[in-house]
Amino acid sequence: MKAVLFREHGGPEKLSYEEIPRPQIGPQEVLIRVKACALNHLDIWVRQGSPAYPIPLPHVLGSDVAGLVEEVGSQVERVKVWDRVFVSPGISCWNCEFCLAGRDNLCRTYSLLGAKLHGGYAEYVKVPFRNVLPIPENIPFEQAAAFPLVSVTASHMLFALAGLQPGETVLVMGAGSGVGVMAVQLAKLAGARVITTVGSDDKIPKAMILGADAVINHSQETVAERVKLLTEGRGVDVVVEHIGPEVWDTCLDSLTKGGRLITCGATTGGDVKLNLRSVFSRQLTIKGSYMGTRAELVKAAELIGQNRLIAVIDRTFPLQGAPAAQELMASRKFFGKIVLVC
Ligand SMILES: [Zn+2]
Repeated sequence: MKAVLFREHGGPEKLSYEEIPRPQIGPQEVLIRVKACALNHLDIWVRQGSPAYPIPLPHVLGSDVAGLVEEVGSQVERVKVWDRVFVSPGISCWNCEFCLAGRDNLCRTYSLLGAKLHGGYAEYVKVPFRNVLPIPENIPFEQAAAFPLVSVTASHMLFALAGLQPGETVLVMGAGSGVGVMAVQLAKLAGARVITTVGSDDKIPKAMILGADAVINHSQETVAERVKLLTEGRGVDVVVEHIGPEVWDTCLDSLTKGGRLITCGATTGGDVKLNLRSVFSRQLTIKGSYMGTRAELVKAAELIGQNRLIAVIDRTFPLQGAPAAQELMASRKFFGKIVLVC
């Protein structure tokens, strides 16, 4: 089969399009003929060589997969050949105390498709059958690949961790990012007032269409100041953040007393400064978020199937275009998801 893989860590030029053997499935695994695979920032971290993702090389990236079932193992239940499916990217044991409590993203052996395991930058990928879910009717493969990781992440941040309530105000950093697109829509669906940020004016109408009540161009305005103006000096109840040091102070300054900051990424670095006096005197909550639960993914898929949640796709590339697709992702000049199709 054809696949895009890398043999050493580094830039996008390390990705090469090659012929490799098709994966052999085990009794509880399913082989999927990949039709679409969405990119995530995780792909870039793994390619560059993050200490959080020690992997044997060569490696095939890709966490968000949709396609057709090609083969099923002897102990597979529910899933049949030719089913149209998408993949839940979080691989959990279904056995530990966290999995049994429905908190599978805390699983003791949690890993991600495309991180520890070979992912979907390929014609075929194998996954545990429990990670395979049916694509909602009328949803094309590209859209089915574009929502799982980011929708489950945004949902977990807003509801499980921030406990967002109707009528509250939320600041979503980066409306055009994968998580941003989902967080704006999910917060709006939940009855919150949504303020979001973009880096260029052309993204403002796109963010409004998703349901944002106010959009701040961070290249022209000071976000925390504008947030104060928009909230009559109060600040927001919840901040959804995935950018890191570049926006950290802005996020904290934008919170009201008792506000909650949820962070799920660090695209501009891992180290930030924190003034503890400000945290306790303003009674702030800061929580780290990683992926989400299987139940949250099933809910997101329902919303996608009802067209109440939209997986926005900026561009698609053929599989061999993966290096260019990753360069586009690193450039920030996109709105929504970038998807490989094959
Ligand atoms: Zn587990």
